[in-house]
Amino acid sequence: MKTPYLEINLSKLHNNAKKLTSLFGAKGIEITGVTKSFLGAPQIADCLFSAGIFSLGDSRIKNIIRMKEAGVQAPLSLIRTPSLCDIHDVVKYADVSFNTELTVITALSKAAIKQKKIHDIILMVEMGDLREGILRRELGATIEEVLQMKGVRLIGMGTNLACLNGVKPTKYNMDHLSRLADTYERSYGIKFQVISGGNSANFDWLFTNDILGRVNNIRLGEAILLGRETLSRKRIDGLHSDAITLVAEVIESKVKPSRPEGETGFDAFGNTPTFEDKGEMLRSIIALGKQDANVAGLTPMIDVDVLGASSDHIVLDTTRTPLHVGDKIRFNIDYAALLSSMTSPYVNSVYIENSTQIAGG
Ligand SMILES: *Cc1c(COP(=O)(O)O)cnc(C)c1O
Repeated sequence: MKTPYLEINLSKLHNNAKKLTSLFGAKGIEITGVTKSFLGAPQIADCLFSAGIFSLGDSRIKNIIRMKEAGVQAPLSLIRTPSLCDIHDVVKYADVSFNTELTVITALSKAAIKQKKIHDIILMVEMGDLREGILRRELGATIEEVLQMKGVRLIGMGTNLACLNGVKPTKYNMDHLSRLADTYERSYGIKFQVISGGNSANFDWLFTNDILGRVNNIRLGEAILLGRETLSRKRIDGLHSDAITLVAEVIESKVKPSRPEGETGFDAFGNTPTFEDKGEMLRSIIALGKQDANVAGLTPMIDVDVLGASSDHIVLDTTRTPLHVGDKIRFNIDYAALLSSMTSPYVNSVYIENSTQIAGG
């Protein structure tokens, strides 16, 4: 297998998805598995759906089209408000879209009438994190207008916290969302099927509150893929945090000094490097750099130190664990490293089940 590659262990992902499904299921909450960080790769999408994940969501229509065309059976939601240029495809390929703008919903309505379809929508409400969402004082007027449009069906409400400004999902803001749902159902004589309360930052709220109100859906990406909740980056008990790892190869390994020679200025990225004189050390270079992955989010899974990285090289101190040219080294990854390496054209994906390789690509 050509390096660098992401090794994706489908058995571990299946286990993570299954555990989370039963954990949330016990509280009456369905999971929408978020597929954007793996670009909607159908192998992973199918794996999550077969583990019991209720539906899949992606912020990009391109990934939704990819999954639909590959025959992924799960219901697919577009979880970012649609761009006007994508309206036709959104109606054609997405079963549900999340919305915050009447201009967009009007366009969805027109496209749905034209395609003789009913397009389901969820209204996202601004609950404090100040990314997407309809202001609460404008929610009633928005619902009223949407209810008059043909071709679109309002099936729920949702919110997203902890993404742009790190606002925590708490009993206070989650209960508030539930009350809004109750209020508008009463005012307009409607029933919301879905109250989508958040993402991988909702664990604390979920496990410290007995009464979860109307929230019956949570959208999870990182928790399934990396086995972590995102408010305090804690590992979730019983989940694998190494279902996806990054493998790269050693291309140089030499004993060299630890202090550079000559006068120093900025490095390739305009930073001023600092170094400690540790005498001579074994320095190994990995054929992987900032053009492949967010290097700050990589943790070597063996006992070595990362000395630095440039566009195409990571330099390691491998004195304690000597490495040779051709050796492969495995890294644990965080969310930023996952996003960057998944979208790098230089990084392949290899799927394995337990420990057998089943496909390249
Ligand atoms: C990306 C995204 C999620 C998933 O977030 P995780 O932290 O990976 O669980 C959920 N909702 C929306 C709207 C998103 O854009």
